[in-house]
Amino acid sequence: MRIAVYPGSFDPLTYGHLDIIQRSSRVFDKVIVAVVKNQSKKPLFSVDERIEFIKRCISNLPNVEVDHFEGLLVNFVTNKGAQVIIKGLRAMSDFEYEFQMALLNRKLQSEVETMFLMTDHKYSYLSSSMVKEIASLGGSIQDLVPEEILQDILDKYSEKQEG
Ligand code: ADP
Repeated sequence: MRIAVYPGSFDPLTYGHLDIIQRSSRVFDKVIVAVVKNQSKKPLFSVDERIEFIKRCISNLPNVEVDHFEGLLVNFVTNKGAQVIIKGLRAMSDFEYEFQMALLNRKLQSEVETMFLMTDHKYSYLSSSMVKEIASLGGSIQDLVPEEILQDILDKYSEKQEG
């Protein structure tokens, strides 16, 4: 069985992430979306919230599941019996960092391959940090995040303003 792990912070999930999840679910027998737990920058949503958001948006994709990990990604990949790490590419600016990460992961675990999927061009400008910035400034994020989680993201900002 060909299993791929798609890691990221997903803080929160965007249509760009979902596009990569859908594409990889057509190529692999199983895809595990893996939420990173150890983050230096403080996330807006807890790991549990991020996992729950992703679950809501992948309910129509039977071969996709969600998990989280701490520590080395390659260890998680191996423990899950997966062979491949999926990375989404938006623009050339993603490339240099991802190239370095892929080679480092190969050095750590030579049997694990990193594969890059190109996002739909309409999401090439999209990142979770952009979504958070726009939402915090009161702009519309309706076309940027799945509708299943839109209200929860907006609620987080109204909570913040009240608090
Ligand atoms: P970000 O905060 O930049 O959205 P994440 O750590 O959540 O980043 O991203 C996880 C993975 O998803 C990375 O491989 C990243 O390149 C990819 N990704 C993020 N946004 C997009 C997008 N709009 N299109 C394609 N891939 C994306």
